[in-house]
Amino acid sequence: MEKGILYIVSTPIGNLEDITLRAIRILKEVTLIAAEDTRHATILLHKYEIRTPCVSYHSYSNDSKIQSIIEKLNDGHSVALISDAGTPGISDPAYTLIQAAIAAEITITPIPGPSALLAALVASGLPMHHFRYYGFLPLKKGRQTLLTSWKAQAESGDLDETIIFYESPHRIARTLEDLQKHLGDTSMNWNIVLGRELTKIHEEFMRGSLTDLIQAFKIKPPKGEFVVLMSYKS
Ligand code: SAM
Repeated sequence: MEKGILYIVSTPIGNLEDITLRAIRILKEVTLIAAEDTRHATILLHKYEIRTPCVSYHSYSNDSKIQSIIEKLNDGHSVALISDAGTPGISDPAYTLIQAAIAAEITITPIPGPSALLAALVASGLPMHHFRYYGFLPLKKGRQTLLTSWKAQAESGDLDETIIFYESPHRIARTLEDLQKHLGDTSMNWNIVLGRELTKIHEEFMRGSLTDLIQAFKIKPPKGEFVVLMSYKS
């Protein structure tokens, strides 16, 4: 029997119109949708009249959950994996399931679409020929080491890539302060762009130095989801 296909389907990061025709068709055609949060997925599925059964798949999903999805695929049923926003696997659960599917010789097909990191990068005005994506920065262990390594690379003239990472509204102000502290003498030479609430009503790009942005948040506390982009000018 022919096996099913595991589709990795990108979904909107805010504006529900940001979904491809192919993504809608695949979500309608598959036997099962594996969603990070089934209640969250309902909003999108309802808008596009997608009635495919939905099960949850998240980062804490155990082996038996993964195995039950693999069994479906082995039985010839195709499955679409979606996350709460954007591209599954980009700071979202997907990796373990994709690895298990590859080990089971299942075909993986990406259905490309939105991702906050690329949306932020292309509108940032920062160099985009090379970039490094860090996901979420380490919270404690490793944070200082990482930030001081950026300082050392900047000082040695070894950093011509734009650095990109994700941050939550309750941590962004603290993270900017950590950057200022650990980037030390180089901190004035970084151009920072914050992409906030991309594709949503309050979409905003905040541009400036670390000092400017730290000050801006003292006046108006941060709200919404953020992508942080940084580029060094010697
Ligand atoms: N898979 C997603 C993607 O492809 O972009 C990322 C998921 S990750 C769990 C969530 C983080 O992505 C948020 O904390 C925020 O940093 C960023 N993010 C997601 N949607 C965003 C948006 N509309 N505007 C700004 N940042 C966003």
